[in-house]
Amino acid sequence: MSLVVAIDGPAGSGKGTVTKIIANKKNLQYIDTGAMYRCIALKMLEENVGLEDTEKIRNILNDIEIDLEGSNVFLNNRDVTKQIRTVEVSNFTSPVSAIGFVREKMVELQRALAKGKDVIMEGRDIGTIVFPNADVKIYLDAKPEERARRRVEQNEKNGIASNYEQILKDIIERDTRDMTRENSPLKKADDAILVDTTSLTIDEVIDKIINIIENKMKE
Ligand code: C5P
Repeated sequence: MSLVVAIDGPAGSGKGTVTKIIANKKNLQYIDTGAMYRCIALKMLEENVGLEDTEKIRNILNDIEIDLEGSNVFLNNRDVTKQIRTVEVSNFTSPVSAIGFVREKMVELQRALAKGKDVIMEGRDIGTIVFPNADVKIYLDAKPEERARRRVEQNEKNGIASNYEQILKDIIERDTRDMTRENSPLKKADDAILVDTTSLTIDEVIDKIINIIENKMKE
């Protein structure tokens, strides 16, 4: 039987970092669903397709091939790992991911990717919509100020210039949109375990989640 671990939460909650490490430690396939939505947004920006351009968006969805290989992301066989992380793509992904038919297609792909495998999948709606029966559901959260601070730190490491106030504003805007949208809003599933990472180190968060997974596996 396959194991599904769902990790949901807002931007900067630590999802990406801890999910990747846990995937390696527990030998689970890592699926970053945010990267999939980012690919659609990147393609739309590159082809000048607007949010109202339903037909063109449908064409993009029909032709799109997304491959996730570890942390590398390929869009129609092109490595877009870096391109999907720009501020422009981050901000555009949020309204793109609010489109109902885009979500339908992504959820279908996500379920197909996980079929028959032991996976750890991170996103916004994994425990609520994609895998409501996931074996383990975690909701990671942290105060917006801490999430913005982490993003600035991450950018510095990657040599990207960033402004704390602007990042905080973007994070709050993105979360509000993700939480209030009509289709699959970001929210904690009733049976998800809430982990507030504001004052925890990455190692502490990882240990906590691994404990939860191991207890589940013993059942
Ligand atoms: O997780 P990440 O920040 O890469 O996600 C980018 C955007 O994709 C989010 O702000 C959200 O709007 C959208 N997303 C989503 N559902 C998911 C994963 C991401 O709506 N399962």
